[in-house]
Amino acid sequence: MEGDSRGPKGLRLLLLGAPGSGKGTQASALSSRLCVPAISTGEMLREAVAEGSELGERISGLLASGELVDDATMRQVVQRRLDKPDTERGFMLDGYPRTIDQAHALDEILSSSGEGLDAAIQIEVPEEELVRRALARRREDDREDIVRRRLAVYRDKTRPVAEFYRDRGLLVEVDGDQPIVRVTEAILSALGVAA
Ligand code: AMP
Repeated sequence: MEGDSRGPKGLRLLLLGAPGSGKGTQASALSSRLCVPAISTGEMLREAVAEGSELGERISGLLASGELVDDATMRQVVQRRLDKPDTERGFMLDGYPRTIDQAHALDEILSSSGEGLDAAIQIEVPEEELVRRALARRREDDREDIVRRRLAVYRDKTRPVAEFYRDRGLLVEVDGDQPIVRVTEAILSALGVAA
């Protein structure tokens, strides 16, 4: 991407890496630097489970096994979040879209408000490093078999989403196998924003 494309409405960004690629860490670093809210669908779903809401009860098994929540449910969750006024000046979506259907749904959600996306950032990390990181962070869904299942789901369903945005000229690929600050700098530089 050339130049700082922040218009009056701010940047609308997607973070697309595999589980363990550092998306969450980069989302919070970039969110404060770019003054846009970081929206993590994984976090929103884990909160729903912790609250014991109707949604939480319905999806807790899926989350625990590393499978994806269905596209229709995810569309509702994301639509509701993007309707909030803090996204009017841009946003950074971490963990959505994760399927081609979700990418189409996001197009529809955004086109109803006349907005487009500025970039889809793909954080690349080798698979063995992803497993090592996931086992080190010890979240409940980070058991080795579940970690490997999440990576397989990522390969099958989410990897094609990067190609979807590459075809539109929106894909920015960044090496995620380097220190956190270097990854942040690489993303900012690709966006044309001074670090
Ligand atoms: P994450 O924190 O992004 O790794 O997400 C944790 C879990 O939440 C995933 O393993 C999925 O079960 C679920 N999840 C998060 N985002 C999505 C999404 N966009 N579509 C389907 N399931 C999702």
